[in-house]
Amino acid sequence: SAHNLVKHFNAGGWGPNRKVVRAVDDVSFEVAEGETLGVVGESGCGKSTTARLLTHLLAPNSGEVRYRGRVAGTEVPLKTFRRHVQMVFQDSYASLNPRMTMLDAVAFGPTVHGMDRAEARKRAGALLERVGLDPARFGPRYPHEISGGQRQRVNIARALAFDPDVIVLDEAVSALDKSVEAQVLNLLTELRRERGLTYIFISHDLNVVRHISDRVMVMYLGEVVEIGPTRTIYDQPRHPYTGALLAAMPSLDPDRRTLEAPLQGDPPNPIDPPSGCRFHTRCAQAHAPCPLHAPGSIAVGQRHIAACHLNTVPEAAP
Ligand code: SF4
Ligand code: MG
Repeated sequence: SAHNLVKHFNAGGWGPNRKVVRAVDDVSFEVAEGETLGVVGESGCGKSTTARLLTHLLAPNSGEVRYRGRVAGTEVPLKTFRRHVQMVFQDSYASLNPRMTMLDAVAFGPTVHGMDRAEARKRAGALLERVGLDPARFGPRYPHEISGGQRQRVNIARALAFDPDVIVLDEAVSALDKSVEAQVLNLLTELRRERGLTYIFISHDLNVVRHISDRVMVMYLGEVVEIGPTRTIYDQPRHPYTGALLAAMPSLDPDRRTLEAPLQGDPPNPIDPPSGCRFHTRCAQAHAPCPLHAPGSIAVGQRHIAACHLNTVPEAAP
């Protein structure tokens, strides 16, 4: 689970002129064991920073990540935490060492963590096999000798080599052709079932997220604006930003498309986010309180939260 995660990046300047990018601003959520949580939002909304905070590749300015209730970095040593919580990135080429064969790439991590080299290589062979790559054929190859889909299978095998419980997947299938993407998604679904894995699946592709997730979290300018069960989020979104993202989905049935106008323009600069509700500059339903007050998280249904004033129950007239 994530608790009030905050990550600001310095964007230059000193003293009162210091510019700060509020990449992730007070983000909290829980992921249950064995669940897949999808994370969506436009680029720059803080998805990737959240992923790096969750895996402790980045340290938060404040807030904490808990693994089975224990704080990563203090109550669980980071070395242990990183074995349990693995990450797979979009760029499968950059995440592999060009001078390491695929077998060595998968065996490397466990060897660093103290496993006997012969044992690690044996396990690496079995993992390559499991992700659909014949170890005799692909084990001796280098990253440039295999396709993007195959490299991503190697990256999944490499994450599995630590026998993790949680895998954070940041746009892990986004660079692949549609047919290869479907194969890798099927592999991920099988592995999850086999090993009881928990996924945090980050993607800009709402079709893919709907297919794979139990719950979905929507982010905008570093904040969580809506989170809930997948069906509910897609059928009855309660935040206009979610509605707008869905309206822009290519394959949605045409009847639903008119519900919300698709998004206009780019998100505002996260260095100086809009006051109140950060979405008010682009929201078709913005009204008086929106630029003045941040709506905060409002429970709108079973395990469904949306941060929008439209969900505030008006006070009963006296
Ligand atoms: Fe739109 Fe206001 Fe809701 Fe923000 S709080 S999403 S501006 S209606
Ligand atoms: Mg990203």
